[in-house]
Parts: sequence; C-alpha cells; structure tokens
Amino acid sequence: MDRVRAAAPQLAGLAPYDPKYVPADAVMSANENPLDVGEDVRRDIERAIRKVSLNRYPDPLANELRDMIAEANGLERDWVLVGNGGDELLFDTALAWGGPGRTFLNLPPTFSVYAANARLTNTAVVDVPRGGAPDFAIDEEAVLAAVGGEGVAGGASGAGAVGGPVDFTIIASPNNPTGLRASQEFMQRLLSATDALVVADEAYFEFSRMTSRPLLEANRNLVLLRTFSKAFSLAGVRLGYILAHPDVIEEYLKVRQPYSVDAVSQAIGRVVYESRAKFEPGIRSIIEERDRVTEALKVIPGVRPYPSDSNWVLFSVEDAAEAWEHLYGRGILVRDFSNAPLLEGTLRVTIGTPGQNDAFLSALRDFCLRKRD
Ligand code: PMP
Repeated sequence: MDRVRAAAPQLAGLAPYDPKYVPADAVMSANENPLDVGEDVRRDIERAIRKVSLNRYPDPLANELRDMIAEANGLERDWVLVGNGGDELLFDTALAWGGPGRTFLNLPPTFSVYAANARLTNTAVVDVPRGGAPDFAIDEEAVLAAVGGEGVAGGASGAGAVGGPVDFTIIASPNNPTGLRASQEFMQRLLSATDALVVADEAYFEFSRMTSRPLLEANRNLVLLRTFSKAFSLAGVRLGYILAHPDVIEEYLKVRQPYSVDAVSQAIGRVVYESRAKFEPGIRSIIEERDRVTEALKVIPGVRPYPSDSNWVLFSVEDAAEAWEHLYGRGILVRDFSNAPLLEGTLRVTIGTPGQNDAFLSALRDFCLRKRD
C-alpha cells in the first residue's frame, strides 16, 4: 500500500511537544536544576544500579519508593502513585477524568501539555485566562464561577466541545511559565466549590515553599503532583508522583501503563529520595539567585520581570525575539515565548549557577543598552 489511512481526527493540527532545545554553553531554558546530583549521591546510585536485575520486569507500582514517599508525607502507600515523570501522570489525568463529553478547565497561560492532553483525549477545554501584567494572577472569581455552574458559558474549544460541567482542572502552583503560586485560601475555596478533580501541579513547590498537602485528607477531589526533575536534579531519569485519596489513585491505576517506571529509575529514585536533605542548600541558593536576578532585571532599561515563586523568571523585553537571538549568540539558551498566546514579548530564564546568571544578565544588559544607543 502506498498510502495510509488518516490518523485519529483529534491529531489534526496538533504539533508534537517541542522543548525547543538547541545546544548552548548555558542551558537556561527548561527549568532544570543547574547542578547535577553530587558525587556522593552518584556513587550510591551506581551501587544501587549494580544490584538491579535487568532481565526482570520492574515492580509495576514502584512500591519501595512509594512507601518512602508515603512515609515522608505521613500517608499510607495507597495514597501515592509513582509515574514516568509528572508528564505521564498528567496524561493519565486526562485519560481518567477527560474524554468525549467531558470538560477540562484550563487557566492559560500555563503549561501547554495540559491543553494538549485534553485535545488528545477529545476532552472539551474551557479557558479562564489569568490576568496579564503585573503578575498573571488567577482570576479567582471567574474560576469559581466556572466550576460552580451546571454548564460553562463560552470559551469552550476542542472536539465536540459544548462546555458541560467541569470534570477536572489543573492549577500549576507555581505556574509555569508565569511564576506565582496559587494561594492556599483560593485552593480551599476551589476544592469546596466543586467535586471536579483539582490537580495542584506542584512540580516546583520546593522553590515556593508552599504546598496544598494540608488540604489533602479533607478534600477527596484534590491531587498533588510532584516531580524529581527540578529540585532533585533528576530531569534525565523521569520520575514523578501524585498524592491523592486511594479512591482517586484507584482510577489512575486503571489507565496507567503497567511498567512505565523502569527498575533503574526506581533504584535511582530511592537513593535520591533518601538523600533529599542534601539538595536543600542548592534549593536555597536557587531561591536567592532568583531574587537577585529579578532585582537586576528591574534596572535594565526596557526590561520588566514578572514576580516568581519558582526557579525561573519570566520577563518582557523590547524586541524579545531579537533579544533571544542575541543571548543565544552569547552561548545562553533561554525559552522564547515572544510569539506565544498571552505571553507576547516575553522570554523565560531558568535560574542557573551564579556565574551563568551573571553571564545572562550581562548579555541582556548589553543588548538593551545597544538598542537605546
Ligand atoms: N508540570 C509542570 C508545570 C512542568 O513545568 C513540568 C516540566 N516541564 C512538569 C509538570 C513535568 O515534569 P516531569 O515530567 O519532568 O516530571
């Protein structure tokens, strides 16, 4: 056959996820930790990997790691599920709570994967956009109104979308790429206003020092999503987890891939989780550097940083696409949102080492001053 039947219709017009990675001296584009795991932890990892039976399937539920996470969070094992990065668990959320005739409430601008997963699963998407400058705050009353109504007026998109009652929503806290976390008070109001599943995406919560964990037992509709990719320097390994009521975890178990978390990742995860106190100084330094970079950006002519509770700073700059090119020419890769909806004219810099941050600030300052000449 020299032709192939069309793929599923919801794929039409969808672009594969593109992290827009290109090689650079200073990679400051993907919100990774600038520091790899330390030598002592790496040695323990190597020892642990040596013991892994590569010919055997892994424990499908990563129960040893699951128990460690449960214990650290004061929960039983059945409140925890480990996945192949937070990304897998986000996809599973759309599989389990989305689908034809179902509705996802999105708060753009936010992590683009949420809406893409909804489209892939033929879930209608209702948008309640965040406010713009100065901080992209959540439109709290509009979100509460959207989840409270029987049907949702306007803003629905996606296959078969008519905007029925909201079935699930995802609140990134802190929100990527804009920066601020949601308030505890808002999260509680939202959880009380609806029985829709509310995922608090806490991929970056270590940098905000705020979690909705205290709300978990009293709210069966709350899911906390966490990752090893950021504070714990393991983006290359692919480990994330959720904390949720066992009834909710049970639904995730039905849709997940049985062996998505391989045995090597499980072994690495156990070592790193046990050593997690060692990452604390690195986290503290990232928070300090974030505040330093934000202050430095404020005094560069033509630049306006947005406040951040995370390990990056979003900023607007005149001629943003050209600024991106200039930075890249100086060996610095930042994320270009200059043409992204609701984010026009902005770039996002992930906090790096102090040296990388200085190089970034100096290159951006040169660009902006030259523009003013
Ligand atoms: N949530 C948010 C808001 C993110 O930015 C990311 C990473 N880009 C993830 C979840 C998923 O991270 P991972 O799959 O590496 O755990």
